[in-house]
Amino acid sequence: MSLDIEKCKIKFLTNQEMLECLTHFSYEYSKKQFILKDLRPLNDNDNILLTEPVIFSCFSNRFGSSDMGEKAINKFKDEHECSHLCHQFNLGKLK
Ligand SMILES: [Zn+2]
Repeated sequence: MSLDIEKCKIKFLTNQEMLECLTHFSYEYSKKQFILKDLRPLNDNDNILLTEPVIFSCFSNRFGSSDMGEKAINKFKDEHECSHLCHQFNLGKLK
C-alpha cells in the first residue's frame, strides 16, 4: 500500500484557496494582462471540474461583455491575500 502525498496535500486545501491561487497565477502567467476569475468548482469523485470561467483583461471588453477590465483586476489585487499555495508557486506580491 502506498500513500499518494500529492493527493493528500490537495485534500487539505479548500477549493477557495486553490481558486484564489489560480487567479493570482493567471495574472502572473499573462504578464499582468488578465485574470481568470469566477470559476465554480464541481466535485466529481476525486476530480474537481472548474466551470463558468470569466476573464478580466486590461483591455476593455476583449473577452466579451463579462470582461470587467482593469477595474476588476485592481479589485482582485486589493482584496487577495496570498496563501501558502501562492508562496509555494513563488507568485509575486500584488500589493
Ligand atoms: Zn496570491
